Amino acid sequence: MPLHITTPLIESLPLSAHAGRDVWLKMEAAQPCGSFKLRGVGLACETHVANGAQRLVSSSGGNAGLAVAYAGRRLGVPVVVVVPETTPARARELLQLEGAQVQVVGASWQEANAHAQSLLGARDAFIHPFDDPLLWQGHASLVDEVAQAGLVPDAVVLSVGGGGLLCGVALGMQRNGWGAVPLIAVETHGAASLHQAMQAGHTVELPAITTVATSLGAKRVCEQALRWSQERPVHSVLVSDHSALTACERLMDDHRVVVEPACGAALAVVYEQHAALQAYTKVLVIVCGGATATVEQIRQWRWAAAPQ
Ligand SMILES: *Cc1c(COP(=O)(O)O)cnc(C)c1O
Repeated sequence: MPLHITTPLIESLPLSAHAGRDVWLKMEAAQPCGSFKLRGVGLACETHVANGAQRLVSSSGGNAGLAVAYAGRRLGVPVVVVVPETTPARARELLQLEGAQVQVVGASWQEANAHAQSLLGARDAFIHPFDDPLLWQGHASLVDEVAQAGLVPDAVVLSVGGGGLLCGVALGMQRNGWGAVPLIAVETHGAASLHQAMQAGHTVELPAITTVATSLGAKRVCEQALRWSQERPVHSVLVSDHSALTACERLMDDHRVVVEPACGAALAVVYEQHAALQAYTKVLVIVCGGATATVEQIRQWRWAAAPQ
């Protein structure tokens, strides 16, 4: 039994009406700890523990760290998550609730990550948040579930941070014979690491992350994500924070589900009838979820973010 669950696949009448085409939602927000991350992270943790790892280490204060904490608890293995001082109290509490030992070290993620690396002994496994083929294998299972349900979309919309989800979904699409179905890869303007890599033809390090969609905030996408964009149809789309936040609020009303702005970014493409959807009639949106934003925070951010 994998650690993740089979999530609902629903035809969304409200989003279909907004988008003027059939819209299906893969509800990864329903995973334990709130995001698709558990698919890949769960597989990676299980594999490392089966190979003898006695402790799991992460440096993510976000959904990847939460998934490691959940997996460790389920597998009966201790988990250490090293986070920087900037990590919100809520994220630390969620990690502690899952039973992880949280160490707060350094002013930036780089410092926290360096400390996490220094802890690693022979019987520890470090779980990367997005750049690991094991993770991609696990994420690919979400496409297998859609294919088993008998749905073949003519486009798939998803959010991109470090590109782990994209690599997993592209792998799943390939192994289900959907290699020609386009991926619409969405980032916010302040976290456009895939967009810039696709324009440059090589991965690029962003000078800074400037978005409320913190789960999209990888400064550089993984090489494999760029490679997929060169080997299969991938269309890069950027949306504003305001659009992502508005989409979060609309999803609450339409489907009674709270997601992070990282997920709202993908939903915004549908809610705003983005031109990238023009050629398609049956669109699958990966509702990647996210546990770190509260309703109150989404509201406050939206008041503060000007429409672009
Ligand atoms: C991690 C995450 C993403 C981005 O996934 P990558 O694999 O880093 O591209 C998007 N949304 C949510 C909610 C996430 O937790």
